Amino acid sequence: MTGIVKGNTGEWEMVIGLEVHAQVLSNAKLFSGAPTDFGAEPNHNVALVDAAMPGMLPVINEVCVSQAVRTGLGLRARINNHSVFDRKNYFYPDLPQGYQISQYLDPIVGEGVLSIELEDGTTKDIGITRLHLEQDAGKSLHEHSPTSSFIDLNRAGVALMEIVSEPDIRSPEEAAAYVKKLRAIVRYLGTCGGDMEKGQMRCDANVSMRRVGETEFGTRCEIKNLNSMRFLQKAIQYEAERQVEILENGGEIDQETRLYDATADETRTMRSKEDAHDYRYFPDPDLLPLELTDDFIENIKKDLPELPDEKKARYMEQYGLNAYDASVIVADKASADYFDEVVSEVDARLATTWVTAELFGRLNKMEVSIESSPVSAAQLVGLIRLIEDNTISGKIAKDVLDKMMESGKDANAIVEEQGLKQVTDTGAIAEMIDKVIADNPDKVAEYKSGKDKLFGFFVGQVMKASGGKANPAAVNELLKKALD
Ligand code: ADP
Ligand code: MG
Repeated sequence: MTGIVKGNTGEWEMVIGLEVHAQVLSNAKLFSGAPTDFGAEPNHNVALVDAAMPGMLPVINEVCVSQAVRTGLGLRARINNHSVFDRKNYFYPDLPQGYQISQYLDPIVGEGVLSIELEDGTTKDIGITRLHLEQDAGKSLHEHSPTSSFIDLNRAGVALMEIVSEPDIRSPEEAAAYVKKLRAIVRYLGTCGGDMEKGQMRCDANVSMRRVGETEFGTRCEIKNLNSMRFLQKAIQYEAERQVEILENGGEIDQETRLYDATADETRTMRSKEDAHDYRYFPDPDLLPLELTDDFIENIKKDLPELPDEKKARYMEQYGLNAYDASVIVADKASADYFDEVVSEVDARLATTWVTAELFGRLNKMEVSIESSPVSAAQLVGLIRLIEDNTISGKIAKDVLDKMMESGKDANAIVEEQGLKQVTDTGAIAEMIDKVIADNPDKVAEYKSGKDKLFGFFVGQVMKASGGKANPAAVNELLKKALD
């Protein structure tokens, strides 16, 4: 999935722009005080205004406005002091108002930029076109009866941020990297939970194709509601190949809205593309334009946490991490928090290897997230301390970590129980060396006649004799003396 499709008449390049709907983290909805908790009984989180009862008026929730501004700042975007809520008119059974309150010509956030991490370790900037606030719709339930549908309005009126990218994305991988990065940023900011499975983030992908080297964009199709990274990538790949086939056969792409069917792994027409004028947008007369003071924005700015890009730069600068390790750690907030806790206590080089290579490696294998790691940051610090003060070697420490992952016990306890303390007693090591030398007279002779490479053999034998517990530096030093 490189972003290039090989056709019969040459190579084609993907052009992709994403629209992400991110549910705002807030206890109440955008224009009502109804709660937003996930998994509530159907129609329990519904205020009269969400059900569009006659005469009910929307009242803007300041928390949702701050969250949108906070997200905009995290995307290095322009915050608009003046923005307007519009009615986007369309009928849908789960939209009792008959319109969605959204923002059209004057969104709360304008142009920004999001830097994605590519597989080869480089980064690429993707333009953000805008971010606007809008209401979510309710949900139609068809599985309860063969003859009727039910409506659940719990989600109706929940605040969404629609975040629109420029068509700067060129492959399914870049699209996934974009969504991952966006998810990391909103999680760092605490403005959206980012869980795609729970519908907290949903993604529409716009895809068009052009011949490699061409500068004009082709006609695009929009694939709606992709709810996992994997489906996002598969849907784009399928859609790209579908379009190439049409184009190469002399056809034209109809600009339309399509759905991805994960079971069949294909996209299908949902409706032909509606134009903005179909929605009869107009400013909502129930809501005043939103006027933000510079102070309001400034206060949110002061309160921003360190974001992934800054954190990555700091890790490289302050602790000497390479770009790859730094990206892996900052990729999600929970692992960065974990690393911060470890690196504040022990040597940065050890912290990096033990968190990335050793801990993450084991968690990946177990398919366990860092949040549910059986070994806490404090426990990993305990293990690294034992390496730092030469109680155990790095090699033994790997076995100890395995046992910690299984049992959740502290490193100290495991080392005590299993008698894994490193032998630094030079007398004991010297004895082992004497025995190895006595047992291998021919190897000693070869070594003395100039076969230097055999030194490694002797180190190995001594380590083996100690059950891996001899201090390697001491073994090297004493062995040199004994042989020379
Ligand atoms: P609409 O309002 O009809 O959804 P927009 O102009 O807002 O249209 O664009 C929606 C998304 O489509 C944006 O993410 C944009 O980057 C993307 N896009 C626009 N033109 C193209 C194109 N030719 N190919 C792929 N994506 C495109
Ligand atoms: Mg759109």
